[in-house]
Amino acid sequence: MIRRMALVIIVSLVFIIGIFSICKMRLADANKEAAEKNQQMESELDDFKNKNIENILYTDDVFSIRKLTKDTYVYTAYGEFNGQKYPANGLILVGNSGLILIDTPWDDKKTRDLLAILKNTFHKNVSDAIVTHFHNDRVGGIKALQEEDISVHSTPLTDMLAVSDGYAHSLGDLSNNDFLTIDGRTLEIYYPGKGHTEDNITIYDKKDKLLFAGCFSKNNSDKTLGNIADADIPEWLKSINKLQEKYTEEQINWVIPGHGNLGGYDLLDHTKSLVEEQLKEHSK
Ligand SMILES: [Zn+2]
Ligand SMILES: [Zn+2]
Repeated sequence: MIRRMALVIIVSLVFIIGIFSICKMRLADANKEAAEKNQQMESELDDFKNKNIENILYTDDVFSIRKLTKDTYVYTAYGEFNGQKYPANGLILVGNSGLILIDTPWDDKKTRDLLAILKNTFHKNVSDAIVTHFHNDRVGGIKALQEEDISVHSTPLTDMLAVSDGYAHSLGDLSNNDFLTIDGRTLEIYYPGKGHTEDNITIYDKKDKLLFAGCFSKNNSDKTLGNIADADIPEWLKSINKLQEKYTEEQINWVIPGHGNLGGYDLLDHTKSLVEEQLKEHSK
């Protein structure tokens, strides 16, 4: 009897130890996997920054599409500004079943062209778009999107300003501090206050640690604030401070400016120093 009990205890012990080691192995595997993934993400980021954003998926005379993360792409569209060829950045987010576009190219024709390119490249349709302020490099193609039954999200202010400039109505459905989940992608909409324009919003993707700052942020080679026809410079400074209070450096891998090279958190610092310079200029 005692021998039988001892046998049962030994068998149970062996069983428990066995389960325990399997769990431990699995945990170690998971840790290793997480570390590898992290390392891979970091090296992807380094690659990207060093090469100044290669990873080109598509390019022609007007457009380029570059891969930023597994399911997030930046598109650049060349338009004309003051008689010069001028690039503007937008985003393409791959959702569960379709695509989400952040900002339209400069006009309806270019937007139709981009939709066709996206269809050919991703084999998916755009279901939704978000526009980040009322200038043509953001809302110029609203009509072309609506022809394809694409929902165009905006704040009521952007909608109002765009319509008064002759563009089609967008939904005006976003609030100044909003979470939006579209097709499996969760985005944070934030209005930091007036800056490049009185309606400029930013879009943050926590998963990718990516802040689409649009024309609220300059790029690192910009020496001036560019088009400030509708800007509020003193408020811009306050708004950048608010944005930097909202998102810390640790929360951000990427800042996407409206024009030119992408970067990290330093783009916000750089924009701030340009705003400060402009304020000094003004007070002279
Ligand atoms: Zn603008
Ligand atoms: Zn712009």
